Amino acid sequence: MKYCKNCVMPDTKPGVYLDERGLCNACRSQEIKSQIDWKERFKDLEKIVSEIKKQNHPFYDCIVPVSGGKDSWVQALTLSKELGLKTLCVTLANHLPTTEGIANLNNMIKDLNVDHMKINLKPSFYRSVRRKCTIEQGEPNWAEHCAVFSSVVNIAVIYDVPLIVWGEDIAFEFGGGQRQESTASAMEIDRSDLNKEGKVIEDWLDEDLSERDTFFYKYPDYEILKQANIQSIYLGHYTNWYGRKNYEEVKARGFSERKLGPLSGNYLSYDNIDEKLCEINIWFKYLKFGFWRSTDQTCYDIWNNRLTRKEAIKIVNDLSDQFPEEYFQDFLRFHNISETEFWEIAENYRNKDIWEFSGNKWNLKYPLKDI
Ligand SMILES: [Zn+2]
Repeated sequence: MKYCKNCVMPDTKPGVYLDERGLCNACRSQEIKSQIDWKERFKDLEKIVSEIKKQNHPFYDCIVPVSGGKDSWVQALTLSKELGLKTLCVTLANHLPTTEGIANLNNMIKDLNVDHMKINLKPSFYRSVRRKCTIEQGEPNWAEHCAVFSSVVNIAVIYDVPLIVWGEDIAFEFGGGQRQESTASAMEIDRSDLNKEGKVIEDWLDEDLSERDTFFYKYPDYEILKQANIQSIYLGHYTNWYGRKNYEEVKARGFSERKLGPLSGNYLSYDNIDEKLCEINIWFKYLKFGFWRSTDQTCYDIWNNRLTRKEAIKIVNDLSDQFPEEYFQDFLRFHNISETEFWEIAENYRNKDIWEFSGNKWNLKYPLKDI
């Protein structure tokens, strides 16, 4: 386990490799981003928009998937207000939303004054598949991750919407992908990303989980998708994406950070605050790869010159061992897992190549240190 020399990302993150200078994929992406003429890039987006406006689509010009988070608010704002497309916002509804999450989503729709569709996945299927993904894969959100993308694409096909606009290209911004540049088209990438583990939703089916309930977890058939001719793009390809900047922009429009401050293990109070089940999912990364929230969040600020590597090291080392207590009991109840069972499951996913037991606790063998 080695860490990037510029930020604090470890090379245990799947897909990340450090180059001869000791820099990670995301830091290389930042170098590319600094060379981009963003005004020109935005003009490319304006061209796409003007083509779509000419086509006179029956229902909507574009879909923006929204959670009520800071980033999706900016996406929807850009497409509906700044560029004037008739926008449909689509939300994959959270089963355990937070108070802030509910308020932010409501405020966003009021602010933008657009149509909004919420997809509620069948609770019994959702709960069972999450439970299985937790136990058998140490990844509670696996199926939801499929549904976030494919539900939106299905809605675009059904309503004949020509454009889907996502936020940032995570593989490009955060590292983990092999791409040299953020591509404009996300559709094929999403399909291949979903299959990266070689798994599909059907792999989880059993006597409790029927194929009849999988519609929103699956992409439309390839032929249908091809015929629908939907463009799927990342706004982060056309604008200089930075989460903190997005936060500041929507704060003035009614977005609220977490009232009680950052969650355990977090450095930011405005990131992923809309639902209660995702923290444990992210925390599993700590067992598997030796990093989680504070690493992701401080890296972003290093890349944007808001934080030095030294400051980030202190934050990451102070926060990473905190366990996400806040919604832990909700998580256990939701999945019908006892606390004892949970710790047994969790320990199955602890990567012994990077963790060692000493001084009565688990420690990383290769702690993050200043160079
Ligand atoms: Zn880096």
